[in-house]
Amino acid sequence: MKRILEKIKAYNTIIIHGHKRPDGDCYGSQFGLKDIITTSFPNKEVYVVGEKSDYVDFVGQVDVITDDVYQGALSIVVDTAVQDRVSDKRYVLGKEVIKIDHHIPVDDYGHMRWVDTNFPSCAQMIAYFYHTFRNELKMTKQGAVALYTGIVTDTGRFRYRGVSRLTHQMAGMLLSLGAEVEEIDRHLSKETLNMVALKGYVYSNFVTTKGGFVYLKMTREAIIKYEVTDEQAASVVNLLSGIEGFPVWALFIEYPTEIRVRLRSNGPDIDKLANHYEGGGHAKAAGAKLKSWDDIKRFVTDVEAVVKRYLDTP
Ligand code: AMP
Repeated sequence: MKRILEKIKAYNTIIIHGHKRPDGDCYGSQFGLKDIITTSFPNKEVYVVGEKSDYVDFVGQVDVITDDVYQGALSIVVDTAVQDRVSDKRYVLGKEVIKIDHHIPVDDYGHMRWVDTNFPSCAQMIAYFYHTFRNELKMTKQGAVALYTGIVTDTGRFRYRGVSRLTHQMAGMLLSLGAEVEEIDRHLSKETLNMVALKGYVYSNFVTTKGGFVYLKMTREAIIKYEVTDEQAASVVNLLSGIEGFPVWALFIEYPTEIRVRLRSNGPDIDKLANHYEGGGHAKAAGAKLKSWDDIKRFVTDVEAVVKRYLDTP
């Protein structure tokens, strides 16, 4: 952290990247870090780049920059385990690259890395970074809102493994800095009628397998029929959580060029399985890809083997 702070101090231009299909933690970490740097060092130019997220756009708006901005700049990539998932590949144009992440490391990119899987969200890492150097750093309410949003979204509202005393301490610190629980929850909990209808579709069409796996195929057809965004369609994965007898659940989402798997577990670790399908992530929450719907059969068999091994282990 000390070395990262030194690098931040050394560069005049800093460009913060996140991952493709950014979520609350990605946005929260990016905009929280931007706020800390710009507020503490007003002379620096700091940009957040990458894809837009409608769900968490109240946290901040991404910047559009030209390639020349990277000249002599520092790139910081947050919340992204693998290079392939970095949104906006121009991060490599920076003079140096720093990776800050809480995922199980799959590939070690960057000149400098701070990777710690004990943190349940990358936003908590950024909050902790601020807290560690609080005598020399500053943050506004907007930064606190961003980081609090990252923490609550990636912990499923403080419900997932990894939530610790430190998580609540950091959340408390962010409240002291101006984040308002109700205001943030209003943004995160707002619901459209189409989404309610889509949830009905999920509950009526999920598939259960004999081996303890429950999943839903979210086809393009369904996404179009319910008039939801891809991001909204992807958000329903946890409707299938916690069903007795089904320790692993997944949402398969059909994108124009690939099928993405959002895989979850409250039993066996599933990150290694995801590694076999061009994916990875956390032990209990991972992402992967299928080439076509035909691959589901093999995927189901592999999940069932993982569940069986888990249940057979005394
Ligand atoms: P998701 O289902 O997209 O929320 O992903 C669950 C976790 O796995 C997140 O922390 C992602 O960053 C990570 N993840 C998703 N897809 C991949 C992938 N293809 N490779 C590595 N990690 C991934």
